Amino acid sequence: MKVLLFATASALALPFAKATDRALGPRGCLFTFHRAAPSALWEELPNRNFYIDVAFLDKFLTYLAAQSWDVVTMSEAQRRMSSGDRGNYVNFSIDDCYRDTFEVVAPLFRKHQVPLTLFVTTGIPDGTLSLWSSGLEDALLNRDLVRVGDETVVLDSGEARRAAYRRIAASWDGLEADKHYAAFCAANGIDIEAVHWKHAISWEMLAELAHDPLFEIGAHTVTHARISSLDPEAAMAELEQSRSRLNERLGIRVEHFAFPYGRAVDCGPRDFELAQRAGFRSAATTRKGLVRRGRDAFSLPRNTINGGHRSLAAMEMHLMGFTGTAARVLGRV
Ligand SMILES: [Zn+2]
Repeated sequence: MKVLLFATASALALPFAKATDRALGPRGCLFTFHRAAPSALWEELPNRNFYIDVAFLDKFLTYLAAQSWDVVTMSEAQRRMSSGDRGNYVNFSIDDCYRDTFEVVAPLFRKHQVPLTLFVTTGIPDGTLSLWSSGLEDALLNRDLVRVGDETVVLDSGEARRAAYRRIAASWDGLEADKHYAAFCAANGIDIEAVHWKHAISWEMLAELAHDPLFEIGAHTVTHARISSLDPEAAMAELEQSRSRLNERLGIRVEHFAFPYGRAVDCGPRDFELAQRAGFRSAATTRKGLVRRGRDAFSLPRNTINGGHRSLAAMEMHLMGFTGTAARVLGRV
C-alpha cells in the first residue's frame, strides 16, 4: 500500500519536482500545524480540520526521507538560507502547543529521528490563556447533549457534533469568547481548570522536550494576540515577554518567533521589524511559499497543513512551491 501511494504521488508530481529542482536550485519548505490525533480519534473530532491525522504525518515523514529532503530546525534552515548549501530541506513547526504535542507528535519525530520546532504561546503552560475552542470541542465529543444558552443541543452523530462545533465556535469567536465559554461551562457542569490541563502542554513537558536536541523551542506570544492589531508597545511586550518567559522557565535562549494567525492582515512590515528589534533571529508567517537563498528572515512563509490534507500529492504541491504561487496569483495571502 505504501509503495502504491508513493508511486501515485511520484507519478503525479515527480516530473514537475525534477524540473523545479533544475529551475530553482536548492529550496526550503516550512510547514506548520497545530494538533495531531491518532486516526480513530481524528475521525470523531468535532474540529478535526485543526488536527493532522498522525498516520498521515508518519507517511509524509517517510516519503520525505525517500525523496532526500532533509528535515531541519529553523536555525539550520536559516543557516542554509544564507549559505546556499546544496540539498532541499523542510522544517516542521507546531504552533500554540497543546498536550498532544508532547504525547502524540514528539514521539513520532523521535521515531523518525528528525527535528521539530515548537512555537509556544506561553499563556498555555502558564494557564492564563483560555482554551475555549478545545474545551468546547471536548464537551461536544464526550457528551450526548449540551446546553447552549436556552437551547439543548443533541449530539447523536459525528456530523451533529461537527455541525454544533462550527455553529457554536463561530457564534463565540471574538472578544467575548471567554465569557461565552465560562457561561457554557457553568451551564454544563464543566470544570474549566481541569479541561485546560487536559489539553494544555505543561512546563514540565516543555522542559523535557527542551533538553532533547531534536526539539527547538520558539516563541508565539503570551496571549496569542494578532500582532498587527496592537500598538507598538503592546506588540513589543507580546514578543519580548513570551521570549523571556520561555527563557525563565526552560533556561534556553529563544531565537525564533512565529506570528499568531500569520496572514498578511495579521502581521506586516512594522511587525517584522519589531521581531528583529526584540532580538529574534527569525519570524515566521503562514503565507504560503518556499524559501531560497537570501530570503528575508523576518517574514518567512510557512505552509499550513490541516486535517483535510491527507495526500502526498497535495504535499508535493507545497514542496514545489505551486501553492505559494497560486495563493499570490489569487491574492490569498
Ligand atoms: Zn497559533
